[in-house]
Amino acid sequence: MAEVKKGRGSLADFCQYLKGVGPARAERFKKLGVETVEDLLTHFPRTYYDRRNLSKISSLQPGTEVSFAGQLLTIAQRRMHSRRGMVTAAVGDDTGVVQIVWFNQPYLARRLKPGTELILIGELTHFRGTRQVVNPEFEIASESFDEDLIHTGRIVPVYPLTSGVSQRGLRGLVASTLDNYRDAVSENLPESLLDSADLPDRYDALQEIHFPSNRGSFDRAVERLKHEELFFMQLVFSLQREARLNQGDRPSFNIDFNMEKAIVESLPFELTVAQKRVMNEMRADLQNPRGMNRLLQGDVGSGKTIVAGTTLASAVEAGFQAALMAPTEILSMQHARTLSPLFDQVGIRLELLIGSLKATDKRRIHAGIADGSTQVVIGTHALIQDDVHFKKLGLVIIDEQHRFGVRQRAALLGQDARPHLLVMTATPIPRTLALTAYADLDLSVIDEMPSGRLPVKTRMVTPGKREAMYRFVRAEIEKGHRAYFLYPAIEETEKQDLEAATSAHEELSKGMFSDIGIGLLHGRMSFADKDRVMTQFSTGDVKLLVSTTVVEVGVHVPEATIMVVHHPERFGLSQLHQLRGRVGRGGESGFCFLLVGEEVPHIARDRLRVMTQVSDGFKIAEEDLRIRGPGEFLGNRQHGVPGLKLANPLRDHKIVETVRDCVKSLIERDPHLKGPEGAPCRRHLEEKGMSGGGPVVG
Ligand code: ADP
Ligand code: MG
Repeated sequence: MAEVKKGRGSLADFCQYLKGVGPARAERFKKLGVETVEDLLTHFPRTYYDRRNLSKISSLQPGTEVSFAGQLLTIAQRRMHSRRGMVTAAVGDDTGVVQIVWFNQPYLARRLKPGTELILIGELTHFRGTRQVVNPEFEIASESFDEDLIHTGRIVPVYPLTSGVSQRGLRGLVASTLDNYRDAVSENLPESLLDSADLPDRYDALQEIHFPSNRGSFDRAVERLKHEELFFMQLVFSLQREARLNQGDRPSFNIDFNMEKAIVESLPFELTVAQKRVMNEMRADLQNPRGMNRLLQGDVGSGKTIVAGTTLASAVEAGFQAALMAPTEILSMQHARTLSPLFDQVGIRLELLIGSLKATDKRRIHAGIADGSTQVVIGTHALIQDDVHFKKLGLVIIDEQHRFGVRQRAALLGQDARPHLLVMTATPIPRTLALTAYADLDLSVIDEMPSGRLPVKTRMVTPGKREAMYRFVRAEIEKGHRAYFLYPAIEETEKQDLEAATSAHEELSKGMFSDIGIGLLHGRMSFADKDRVMTQFSTGDVKLLVSTTVVEVGVHVPEATIMVVHHPERFGLSQLHQLRGRVGRGGESGFCFLLVGEEVPHIARDRLRVMTQVSDGFKIAEEDLRIRGPGEFLGNRQHGVPGLKLANPLRDHKIVETVRDCVKSLIERDPHLKGPEGAPCRRHLEEKGMSGGGPVVG
């Protein structure tokens, strides 16, 4: 394979054609997400070894991390009493010898031959008078001096690998590619941004992140590459947003919002200031030809449903149909139940459309949607089936959007009309993450709870306290309250989980709660059975509900005051916050007990302790984000957008704000990215295989 001539290649070239790669290795690279030169150059090291000064063996200091080179003198495998194998070796240079021990890597005794030159890194210890390094990372040094300029005598990168790709091989390839493609790497960020944030240019930054020369310029390189990631993420979303806005006018609602007023007046409570503010924002959207593209956030129980309901009513008042899509049948039913009396009084015709309806009912509802007699439809994925055709859809609301893929959302929006869009999340997302991941939407936040709402008292309960807790639950139920006993049901372990929930149901029915109606609810039950149990729980025929996480989102039974969570360590914090949001919704105090077994490690308990101390869903989300990374929150959101490898929107919130402004002004000046400032951005998007102005994915 011919070496790429300097200055001729493109970053979109496939790695397969790089010198020494070929089809087989290229296949393995794909597992690392590396297909093109651009991918290779942005396959960043996971860590670095400082090999600027390899020490002589005699000068290695015990108790410190040491990096040194030496020859393998002896190597042998030992059997030990315990089953883990142990390989011992001796490595020496012209100043001394040190003992090496590897546990659980018996193949090393076969792979490494005495006489091999090694570079090692690890912690030097003293063991029974011998200087020893246990489980060092190591590489076989090469004989060629040239190559060693890459692998030693400097700070060297250590990459994430996959089978069949060696550290040295990859490192060598990155080094030669940086060299050969120097002229192909051009600047992709606007100069104004580079200047104002004082960032190095792209080539220097890439060179520096792979082969750092010193701390200062390395830090600046990382800073630049974070700007780049966040900039292009925002740019793609903004272009998608523009594309959607420019598709033509949204239906503009020339109405007096009389239905909204009537509904609000009929409520038994006063709206919070935050609810009123958000409703103002949404009213303005609906009257504007650019329309509504809005994300509505609010903590559990902050009252998003009523805000959604009045918006649906406004669409009807303006002569359109409106749809509300929710992720589960239970939640859809409940929305229908909440909104139906409110809609009745203003004469809005509402239907519930879910998959488990009888075929005849579905046909009837489909017909009503098609001829326009049905004005509001609430439902699950059933709303986006092929046989659903709206006559005049003017508004789409998507609840709990993180449960839906962007494709599903697009399916609902992709009808002929161009409906307004409102997306709601129940799991609060930290603001900076929301601004990043939802750059295509305007953000409204209900940041206030209805007055008189008490935080759910949350306690960790150890097995020894279980009986006392049961007595407490019993007393609450005798007061007329209800309790959830929650079990995880995670896909991999679902069968056991269901068994655990089912046998708990049986046991509780025999023990202290034998005289109390106990119900069982899980995702495998038929819709009719679920509906029956939920209804019994609402009416009080069932007072204690053993359930898997199907109750997680949105379920509203005001009499429920107790939630007992089994295996809380298997839930995310935001999910637990969602769960406990199911209790204490009727003005009485709610209690959440996290039942932790003896076996739950301290670190998991520390994490759970956050739940006992913090009641603000946004703070909990930040904690979750810190622990588990943004993936959980974004869900399907990241499909087709540039990933974040270095940047963390929460930690790097300043950068988020900087690039947001920069993207905004760029798009104002050069909406098609054709001018001198926009063109390099466009080229980069093409090289990355991302088209910004492509089809709307929502
Ligand atoms: P979420 O934001 O979690 O979806 P809901 O919309 O289900 O919350 O509201 C939770 C409960 O609070 C409902 O019973 C609702 O009627 C009630 N509620 C909503 N807004 C107010 C308010 N301003 N004052 C008092 N109660 C309210
Ligand atoms: Mg809700």
